[in-house]
Amino acid sequence: MSVAKKLRCRECGREYQLEPSNVCEFCFGPLEVVYDYAALAGHVTRERIEAGPPTMWRYADLLPVDAENAVDIGTGFTPLLRAPNLGRELGLSRLYLKNDCVNPTWSFKDRVVSVACSVARDFEFDTLACASTGNLANSVAAHAARAGMQARVFIPADLEQGKIIGSAVYAPTLVAVDGSYDDVNRLCSELGDKYPWAFVNINIRPFYAEGSKTLGHEVCEQLGWRAPDHCIVPMASGSLLTKIYKGIKELAWLGLIDWNATRMSGVQALGCSPIAEAYERDSWNIRPQKPKTIAKSLAIGNPADGYYALKTMRSTNGSAIAINDEEIIEGIQLLAETEGIFAETAGGVVISGLRRLVREGRVEPDEVVVAFITGAGLKTQEAVAPALKPALTVEANIESFERALEEREGVLPLTKAV
Ligand SMILES: *Cc1c(COP(=O)(O)O)cnc(C)c1O
Ligand SMILES: [Zn+2]
Repeated sequence: MSVAKKLRCRECGREYQLEPSNVCEFCFGPLEVVYDYAALAGHVTRERIEAGPPTMWRYADLLPVDAENAVDIGTGFTPLLRAPNLGRELGLSRLYLKNDCVNPTWSFKDRVVSVACSVARDFEFDTLACASTGNLANSVAAHAARAGMQARVFIPADLEQGKIIGSAVYAPTLVAVDGSYDDVNRLCSELGDKYPWAFVNINIRPFYAEGSKTLGHEVCEQLGWRAPDHCIVPMASGSLLTKIYKGIKELAWLGLIDWNATRMSGVQALGCSPIAEAYERDSWNIRPQKPKTIAKSLAIGNPADGYYALKTMRSTNGSAIAINDEEIIEGIQLLAETEGIFAETAGGVVISGLRRLVREGRVEPDEVVVAFITGAGLKTQEAVAPALKPALTVEANIESFERALEEREGVLPLTKAV
């Protein structure tokens, strides 16, 4: 039973039927899906959720589509890992990692696309499309394949190889645009006016965004039905951060967790940090930037939800910070070397961002902190490869191996006692 009721303008509050639309006709404010929480109270229980599938669709009651109509390739209910080694390194006693690298197309974007694709099929679109910084393209192409829809995905031409192949393999119409993500997005808005396609992050955006809430839901369930004290989230458009918070609030409204005044902090790459920059200036006015960073998945110069992300961070006593490219690589390495998780550049942004927030006293040492690791590292090998030690190259004999090892490590390890 989906009780998604209406679309509501976030600015003027005008309501609309559920339809493929993302802006208010009166004030051009963004539309959001609203639910009848009163109808859900008592119906949605911890037991009901726990008896659901081991995917994000265990939260179907809080999504704008029925579970039986879901295009589901096994997304969500990803591990929440305690991170004692990294915690020690950063000075945090209760650090957790939400590992969304392990989704079907190896990023959290499968959550938003699973919802958007299901809704698009409900609305009887035959073409699924997107403007993407890379991960979204992978996920749209995969879900369209599964749903038997046409896929048309638009990306900036300078993406990492892993992200290009990771889309092309599903055989979409893959369009590499000579320009930035913001150019791609403008083109797609124009195409959306002309062609009857479901652009998941344009005309389907209100539904798409709802998928991110499940990260908030899952984390609370996995903490034993308790909200974190502090969430650390990477920001591109800013949507993810606002929706994780919405997910946590919903569980509190439904009485499934106690209200815990969770703080929301956002991290960007310095080379594309319009939201963090407005935060630092104490302003609500986001100045668009021209992206220049290795964190291509976060390279949105004109963030659609930047204002709402600022509002969420400020109203929850969180903060925003920006991290340079060198720190991003260090963050990827630190996460891999301490906890065995190979994240993409957005993960490096989060880990180095968290380190800075702790150092500056903006995250408390004993808070229950959840860092959101939103995409997998094999997609962005270019970013980290130059920083890694090359393999020892040897001939297939012991002498050659020992020569190379001694050269690298200075001494040879102890042999077995005979
Ligand atoms: C898209 C993306 C984000 C940020 O998403 P927004 O909702 O646009 O802020 C974070 N991490 C990764 C890996 C992404 O692909
Ligand atoms: Zn409006």
